[in-house]
Amino acid sequence: MFADPPFFTDEHRAFREMAQRFVAAEITPHVHDWDEAGRFPRELYTRTAQVGLHGVGYPELYGGTPADEIFKLIGAQALAQAGSGGLCASLGSHNIAMPMVATFGSDALKDEVLPGVLAGDKIAALAVTEPGGGSDVAAVKTSAVLDATGTHYLVNGEKTFITSGMRADLITLAVRTDPLSRGAKGISILVVDASSEGLTRSELKKMGWWMSDTAHLHFDNVRVPISRLVGVEHMGFMAIMHNFNGERMNLAMMAITFAQLCYEEALAWARARTTFGQPITSHQVIRHKLVEMAMRIDAAQSLCWDLAHALQHQRGTQAERVARISMLKVTATDTFKFCADSAVQILGGMGFMRGTVSERLYREVKVLTIGGGTDEIMKELAGKQLGI
Ligand SMILES: Cc1cc2nc3c(=O)[nH]c(=O)nc-3n(C[C@H](O)[C@H](O)[C@H](O)COP(=O)(O)OP(=O)(O)OC[C@H]3O[C@@H](n4cnc5c(N)ncnc54)[C@H](O)[C@@H]3O)c2cc1C
Repeated sequence: MFADPPFFTDEHRAFREMAQRFVAAEITPHVHDWDEAGRFPRELYTRTAQVGLHGVGYPELYGGTPADEIFKLIGAQALAQAGSGGLCASLGSHNIAMPMVATFGSDALKDEVLPGVLAGDKIAALAVTEPGGGSDVAAVKTSAVLDATGTHYLVNGEKTFITSGMRADLITLAVRTDPLSRGAKGISILVVDASSEGLTRSELKKMGWWMSDTAHLHFDNVRVPISRLVGVEHMGFMAIMHNFNGERMNLAMMAITFAQLCYEEALAWARARTTFGQPITSHQVIRHKLVEMAMRIDAAQSLCWDLAHALQHQRGTQAERVARISMLKVTATDTFKFCADSAVQILGGMGFMRGTVSERLYREVKVLTIGGGTDEIMKELAGKQLGI
């Protein structure tokens, strides 16, 4: 909407142009129908991989495209411009499932799982949240104990609200490997084949994100080879926390981009719609609403790019960066909340009708204030990091 940040290079712009062209041609025209159908074609994973958007930020050795924080966000922004959080969530579920493998996994595990996922042939999901609660990640109860042979874990427990859980081939799973432990100690990460015996899944219906499948998973003595352990046993909590940073930056960029789509639809509508013989933009209250949307989008967008730059160059302390990511997520989702509500209001009755971008996005606001860490948890985390 406004000028690019000063640190954008010609390479960043070229990548954005390619990504936007692909999204406009192969995704945006289908978004409404896919959402109504509750699915998008599985081939989209391979198509996205073919154009180089699926493996952004992963090592070339495994089929990825090494990239800085700015490239990653440009990719996320381009996908979000299709106007569907459900699409971004499911098509990008590997981006919450695989970073732990890429960062902490053994070479053998990376060789085994990353190429298939980054080529779009395999779908990956992340399963941390349990029916007993998602905010308190350290309260994981799903257990994994070594069997008598010492070669496999036996996994028992439940996970819920898992994005891509129905279609996933691989599930990155948080488990408690030390039965005597409590809290953050004793948690490990395993990569589980979704076809494993003893794993059952059921689909959950949602307020929005219809084209993204969301599943409840039940593990009943599921055998997982110890070679599927990610990093060091009992030390998985730190990996989960590390993973959240990328996820939250992505969710923030999604929220800001959706806010902008709401603004654009509302502006176009307000210019074309006449009441009392005049376009509704002639009413000061409507103009001010649109300006308020633009103000908030500009502020959130500027913050997001500045923080991406800070992450890229390790600017500020680690605590400061974590606090800023948490605050950005809340700022971005507040912006989206305001813009989706304002857009539907400006569209009037049409804003309530299926088929408008603002109607779909209005139904998607809530999940962004909950998933990947709720607003309340984000503020708690920011407060802790800032010593408040
Ligand atoms: C569509 C969707 C997709 C999702 N995808 C995934 C996924 O792929 N993988 C995955 O693992 N999880 C996923 N989640 C789960 C998501 O991360 C959790 O819903 C979220 O972390 C909140 O957990 P909860 O729903 O159990 O709420 P709870 O933790 O039970 O919290 C309930 C309420 O209490 C508040 N609260 C809790 N603790 C505190 C506190 N200390 N201080 C103040 N307020 C507090 C919360 O903010 C919230 O408002 C998904 C969720 C949704 C809705």
